[in-house]
Amino acid sequence: MTASSSSVRVAVRIRPLTENEKQHCQNNAIAFIPNNQQQIILGGDRPFTFDYVYPPNSSQQDVYNTCVIPLLNKFIEGYNSTILAYGQTGSGKTYSMGIGLDSVMNASTNDGIVPRFIDSLFSSLESKKSLNYSFQICVSFLELHNEDLVDLLCPNVKRKEGLNLTIREDSQGNICWTGVREEVVSNPTELMGLLQKGSIARTTASTDMNSTSSRSHAIFSIILKQFKVESDGTFVENTILSDQTVFSPNNSTTQHTKRLVSKFHFVDLAGSERLKRTNAVGDRAKEGISINTGLLALGNVISALGDESRRVSHIPYRDSKLTRLLQDSLGGNSQTLMLACASPADTNVTETLNTLKYANRARNIRNRVVINQE
Ligand code: ADP
Repeated sequence: MTASSSSVRVAVRIRPLTENEKQHCQNNAIAFIPNNQQQIILGGDRPFTFDYVYPPNSSQQDVYNTCVIPLLNKFIEGYNSTILAYGQTGSGKTYSMGIGLDSVMNASTNDGIVPRFIDSLFSSLESKKSLNYSFQICVSFLELHNEDLVDLLCPNVKRKEGLNLTIREDSQGNICWTGVREEVVSNPTELMGLLQKGSIARTTASTDMNSTSSRSHAIFSIILKQFKVESDGTFVENTILSDQTVFSPNNSTTQHTKRLVSKFHFVDLAGSERLKRTNAVGDRAKEGISINTGLLALGNVISALGDESRRVSHIPYRDSKLTRLLQDSLGGNSQTLMLACASPADTNVTETLNTLKYANRARNIRNRVVINQE
């Protein structure tokens, strides 16, 4: 039994019209309210309220500064964190996350969330070194396609064989993935290199398999292990870390070292568009069903976490591999940001409405008690 609080924030980002949309769309489906950064109106009469709303002229820097930096700070304090980019294909998920190939190969002022995060993480940790901290940063990069996992840092493992990954829960409720490559990095360049390597593997496969990337979930994870060694060799409680953190002795060095582990998952979700619209048959239909299962399960988990009326809850993490993988980083003590991306074009209004409704369901979660997470 655990008693804890959770925090989920929901941001909605509306991208600019594409050239193609400019030619075909009659009207903008979305209206913004001047000086109101939390509300938008769809189709003239449907208002929605979120924690953050980013209109088309918002910069990557705006998004990063307002909704990601607070998560970075919490991550360094020891909280697990997840950012989920949700929306139909072409709505700006990969652009916002900054894990598309163009973005990771050419650093620019347009960098998305992950490249910015990598830079800030190392500079923030640098300032903790003077406080006797040392760090280890590990990275993994997975793709989940049709409930099969692909390790993007191990391109030699053939995609079709799938990954022999097991998901285990330890006595403290931490989810441990075994069979996944976790690479240790010591600077931002190495970390960016792994992001590039995985993005190349994802894009190559996507070209081979008719744009798989829009139909798969990508999970880029940074695991931060923090050590503090007391100069007199005693085991002194670390005051920065509050009671939600898990401290355990690090057997590999000295018993006077304490260790704190936190994970940050950046999840570029598969396109949320409905199957009917793409007229999918055969393998595509199978993919569509599995995508929908994952996104539905994610929506159900988030909704269950946010349901204020259920103080003792069964949270259905086991209903999909996606939610099982992310179990200890959704709800509980973790920090979660859902970044819902949408097009402003009236030609996409049905999908945009679905995205806003999905995001709206996630908005309820705030500092509630979750008991019996399984
Ligand atoms: P998704 O990952 O949701 O399928 P992408 O991130 O690939 O969509 O975005 C589709 C296209 O729109 C890309 O060409 C991308 O550069 C562009 N785009 C998306 N969001 C923005 C934005 N906020 N500003 C400028 N261009 C954007």
